Amino acid sequence: SEQRVKWVIGNWKMHGRLAENAALLQAVADGASAIGNSIRMAVCVPTPYLAQAQALLSGKPLAWGVQDISPYTHGAYTGEVAAEMAGEFGATLAIVGHSERRAYHAESSELVAAKARRALEADLTPIVCIGETLDEREAGTTESVVGAQLDAVLKLLSVEEAGRIVVAYEPVWAIGTGRSATAEQAQEVHAFLRARLAQKDASLTRVPLLYGGSVKPENALALFGQADIDGGLIGGASLKSEDFLAICEQA
Ligand code: PEP
Repeated sequence: SEQRVKWVIGNWKMHGRLAENAALLQAVADGASAIGNSIRMAVCVPTPYLAQAQALLSGKPLAWGVQDISPYTHGAYTGEVAAEMAGEFGATLAIVGHSERRAYHAESSELVAAKARRALEADLTPIVCIGETLDEREAGTTESVVGAQLDAVLKLLSVEEAGRIVVAYEPVWAIGTGRSATAEQAQEVHAFLRARLAQKDASLTRVPLLYGGSVKPENALALFGQADIDGGLIGGASLKSEDFLAICEQA
């Protein structure tokens, strides 16, 4: 398979406080410096902590990002955060369409696509999350579900824009459950997604495809060794520097 750089991105979700973040960011940044630039490492922190990430991570081989953005540039959208606002604090990444946003905030694939485009316009790399529920998998509809989620984004973006996204395949049944997809199950979906991207344009086979869902130091090597898995989006295990770094070392 072609050589693509590996990515490992942490998603802290709604965890952290200033004091504990400082220790975690420092430890992960030290580990990232030891690992070097052979892989891309990042952490997506709660929005209030972007300034702290910027203060502690500037100049380190550890990027930072936000966990969601508004699809708008500015306006009467109480509580929302614009991509440019995150960018002013040095964020280079924005998760969009996380299954928790889709489930608890009723985000549609069309809204997720609009957020992805907005991120790109603000020079943030959108990490577009897609994935099926357990019911959908058991009904045999995994490919139609994730295919439709990806298509909504590809429909809105030009080929040039689509070439700047990152896709995270995160089966909902594997997120925070301790139950990871097997490396073979994940690879099967990643190969499907890579082919779907290639249908839009051959150049899009280079889009990074990350796996997310209970990635741990124990299963990272098998997952990252698959031909179409370009790294991981890490929830729970990104809150412990030893676990996160152990996962990064296997990328
Ligand atoms: C996530 O929510 O993006 C995720 C992958 O979570 P976890 O690693 O905890 O399953």
